[in-house]
Amino acid sequence: MSEISKRLAIVASFVDKGSYVADVGSDHAELIIYLLDHEVVEKAQGIENKQGPYTRMCMAIKGAGYEGKCLTSLSDGVSQLADGVDTVVVAGMGGRLIARILEEGKGKLDGVKTLVIDAHSERPFLSESIEKLGYKMVDNSFFYDEGIPYDVQKWEKSDDAVSYSPKERVFGPLNLVKKPTEWKYYWRKEEVRLSEMMSNDYLPEFKKAEYRQQIAEIRDAIA
Ligand code: SAM
Repeated sequence: MSEISKRLAIVASFVDKGSYVADVGSDHAELIIYLLDHEVVEKAQGIENKQGPYTRMCMAIKGAGYEGKCLTSLSDGVSQLADGVDTVVVAGMGGRLIARILEEGKGKLDGVKTLVIDAHSERPFLSESIEKLGYKMVDNSFFYDEGIPYDVQKWEKSDDAVSYSPKERVFGPLNLVKKPTEWKYYWRKEEVRLSEMMSNDYLPEFKKAEYRQQIAEIRDAIA
């Protein structure tokens, strides 16, 4: 049985049992091997757009004995998504890159009911793009792994168009309701960081006003 990081284990926990999953940016194929080992899925597609990671992914899949259960593609994003894939995972990338991958591949997402997303930056921007593609956030987990904060999100295709507010995009619509401990910790630290920056006597007044506004928003969100 393969071992993976806490982060990837949480990503894996959002993949529904029995789904046909594609992992975009699969690199060492750790996630799909874990999902197959744990019988969460019976088949998977690993996608890589660079030769080095693609070769590593293929070797890992072969080494684990899953060649018969995994399709491998050397291609950009979801451009070569296999027929029947219903779940797409995009993990370990910046939010703008993930948004580009999904936006450019939107014609391939008709049969994709679930997106599992682990973006390391620009989450508000990405949230807006995913909403426009017709998905709604149905679950998430905000946590620290080795001192780094993550917000792994599960999105599902929805008949009702969802449009989150700027506040929901920044803090996460479900975090604002659940207010998880590690999420509160993260935003308290952010509040302290902004307060320290405000104590700089030479900071221009417009910057101080900006930070003051952000601090008020954080206090309101985590209250
Ligand atoms: N998903 C793994 C994880 O979360 O640990 C690997 C993350 S690694 C930082 C990002 C991987 O995505 C790299 O292997 C990179 O080659 C791949 N990648 C980046 N852009 C891509 C794209 N447009 N299509 C497919 N793969 C891509």
